[in-house]
Amino acid sequence: PLTIGVLALQGDVREHVRTLTDLGVGATTVRRASELEAVDAIVLPGGESTTMAKLLRTFELLDPLRKRIQGGMPAFGTCAGMILLADHVRDGAEGQETVGGLDVTVRRNAFGRQVDSFETDLPVTGIDAPVHAVFIRAPWVEEVGPGVEVLAEAAGHPVAVRQGHLLATSFHPEVGGDGRVHELFVDLVR
Ligand code: GLN
Repeated sequence: PLTIGVLALQGDVREHVRTLTDLGVGATTVRRASELEAVDAIVLPGGESTTMAKLLRTFELLDPLRKRIQGGMPAFGTCAGMILLADHVRDGAEGQETVGGLDVTVRRNAFGRQVDSFETDLPVTGIDAPVHAVFIRAPWVEEVGPGVEVLAEAAGHPVAVRQGHLLATSFHPEVGGDGRVHELFVDLVR
């Protein structure tokens, strides 16, 4: 049976574990390289991308994670997790590192201060009815490479993308009890 890991250094880890568990999928937290080796796929949660990047270094997970993603392990990043998956970041912290793999440029905190957080019902390609999407200091995608499919847009910018085994959303499908984006990821893993 499938085991999906949730990177558990910081952020909304429990929400992802619960969403996956509710779908009947095996989910486990990942904090060390040995735990990473044991999973079939990984979720990078929402939270703070700069903090998570630093902790990935501290916990010696950055290179193992890069290698596994380059080797084809499916990954799903939400919000800060999308930033971590992106090859390029605008408005990042000085020297902000990412895991990379996803051929996109994202802008951090892109929706601006006035609209720090908002919720909207968003049509997503591959999901039959709109998804209730919660955005919290969210990034958007500004440039996509040729292999990247845009699955949803908000304010004229991509906010859900897929590139082969990689899926990323600017919003938080782990918040609000709608498991359909996670289901999309699980289908991709299978
Ligand atoms: N603004 C955060 C960052 O840059 C992401 C916010 C979130 O994950 N809700 O990492």
